Amino acid sequence: MTAEEVVRVLDTDAVNGLPADEVARRLEHYGPNRLREEKRKPGILRFLLQFNDFMVYVLLVAVIISIALLQEYLDGVVILVIVILNALLGFVQESRAQSAMVELQRLSAPEVTVLRDGADTVVPACDVVPGDLLVLETGDVTAADARLLEAINLRMNESSLTGESAAVEKDATRVVEAGAGVGDRPDMVFAATHVEFGRGTAVVVETGQRTELGKIAELLTESKARPTPLQSELRDVGRRIVYICVAVVVLVFIAGLARGNEVKVMFLFAVSLAVAAIPEGLPAIVTITLARGMQSMAKHNAIVRNLPAVETLGTADFICTDKTGTLTLNRMTVTDMLFADGAHYLLDDVMKGGGTHQEEQFHEMCLVGALCNDARVGADGAYLGDPTEVAILNTAIGTGLDQAENDTRYPRVAEVPFESERKMMTTVHERDGGFLVASKGAVESLLARCSTIALPEGERPLDDESVRRVMSDTTELASQGLRTLACACRTVKGAIELDSPEKLESDLLFLGCFAMKDPPRPEVELALETCRAAGIDVAMITGDHRATAEAIARELGMLVPGRHVLEGKDIERMTAEQLSRQVEDVVVYARVSPHHKVKIVESLQDRGHIVAMTGDGVNDSPALEKADIGVAMGITGTDVAKQASDMVLSDDNFATIVQAIRQGRVIFDNIKK
Ligand code: ADP
Ligand code: MG
Repeated sequence: MTAEEVVRVLDTDAVNGLPADEVARRLEHYGPNRLREEKRKPGILRFLLQFNDFMVYVLLVAVIISIALLQEYLDGVVILVIVILNALLGFVQESRAQSAMVELQRLSAPEVTVLRDGADTVVPACDVVPGDLLVLETGDVTAADARLLEAINLRMNESSLTGESAAVEKDATRVVEAGAGVGDRPDMVFAATHVEFGRGTAVVVETGQRTELGKIAELLTESKARPTPLQSELRDVGRRIVYICVAVVVLVFIAGLARGNEVKVMFLFAVSLAVAAIPEGLPAIVTITLARGMQSMAKHNAIVRNLPAVETLGTADFICTDKTGTLTLNRMTVTDMLFADGAHYLLDDVMKGGGTHQEEQFHEMCLVGALCNDARVGADGAYLGDPTEVAILNTAIGTGLDQAENDTRYPRVAEVPFESERKMMTTVHERDGGFLVASKGAVESLLARCSTIALPEGERPLDDESVRRVMSDTTELASQGLRTLACACRTVKGAIELDSPEKLESDLLFLGCFAMKDPPRPEVELALETCRAAGIDVAMITGDHRATAEAIARELGMLVPGRHVLEGKDIERMTAEQLSRQVEDVVVYARVSPHHKVKIVESLQDRGHIVAMTGDGVNDSPALEKADIGVAMGITGTDVAKQASDMVLSDDNFATIVQAIRQGRVIFDNIKK
């Protein structure tokens, strides 16, 4: 069906989404958007299973012998009571551990953005119903099977369903034949696949068990939770203790007989010794300790996604952390403007209108910055979106630009989204019968795609000399710790080819840079000191300019003599060998792309370190998986990154990682004790 038909058949609203009361009705009718769960064993069965234990068998045999052969009724009953009490204790401990795990799973359950009652709403994935409008952005995992209404450069990774790792291009306008397979349906997105690139909206057609994923899940065998290393080690220890106890018990029994004691007395003595000495509760205690640890970490904003990670956390000795948002507040404000001719002003001065000879160019920069921007002003007047973009939008609005007016005057007709590999983004808008191509991003990424530069005397060809000058001007701003973001544009009269991102992003006119301040988080300095005292090394990894990263690192006291800075392009050149040799001395990695992170983790592991690595984007997931502790950002992180990680920081804060490691160590020690 076409998108319109699907909307009609499902009786939904393509503009406002479903109203809340209708959602409730559908949730009742269709059931939650969840795969059928493995049934929990009934309580009585779980209680009886407690008797399924070697020690209990020994005791039960003792009961029978006491009562039937020795006629020691009291002893028999006492042992039986002990056995039952022991089973009860085990049952209670196990239930508590289990409910703690359920609680933790609820904490790390996925959430999705849907359009309901005319507003974007974040809801748990299990509450999605047929007819809901999914809002899909890069890195989102699709919550259900859905028909696309709109797809902008949308490419989906469907490997979880098809095994095909290459991303699939989607197209909302296509209508395919009935019965086409998953791989041949560009009009649909499927549950458990993720957005690799672009964005879109889609109307949910199937949820839960009726999705393509649900059909496969029927075929899959349930994967059992594996015991953690510590748990299996303790199981071995427990078993060894049992053997030793049994040997001692037998020895005591024989020795007693040899000294002329009665068989009856010695038998009961041996049995009570066995009951006292053998640690039947050990595995349950470990689980409870780990689960309790997870709960307390969750209270402190660190959500650990699996039990073994709690142990690994306690042993981590190297943290690779993002800069923006993790070490810094991610609260950006534009402070300075750098024009293409090298003129540099404080934003306040430009705003006052005095002093600058480039009023017009400033407005053009603000227009480009506001158009090439996905941040929004929400209903309550607060900004929504990426802090970098919010800062620029805020500046533009400060000059009197009106976003709603822009949207109608310069409608966006195409875009190439931001990607940390490319470090830039581009949008295309209609303007005065022609088009305006608006780009913003890292200065070197943009310069490489510019052919002209906007100088006070007019547009001039961009020669090597001006490239060098712009680079050094930017570096100077960056070395004050400012994050720089360049913008460029192109005016097209007549037709434009929208399909080729390469062609769109070429032949641009370089306009200048916004420079913004993003102060370090106040608690980070103390956290870094804690790391130093605890023997944990920390390295900053960022896509930002080298000078910006250096300045922040210096401010935080990370960049001490003997430690140095590497750039993505350096890592590119190095062999794994070469990187390994110096990896322990590097505290700042600047202008890196996500794929470099894998190389860094590998080199550190090669050197014997247990590495915690942070990440947020889709492309970070290989590194998160590779790291001993993958740490995803709870606020800015994508679903894909969260799924690849062992721990999610609900406050994106570096200090939280350090706190979690501290707790991990305590838990580890407690279990050992
Ligand atoms: P980090 O998160 O480590 O600061 P990013 O990959 O987010 O690094 O950013 C790297 C560079 O990409 C930034 O220095 C900036 O120049 C550019 N950049 C960041 N965000 C955007 C954006 N929304 N649009 C365009 N360019 C951006
Ligand atoms: Mg970023």
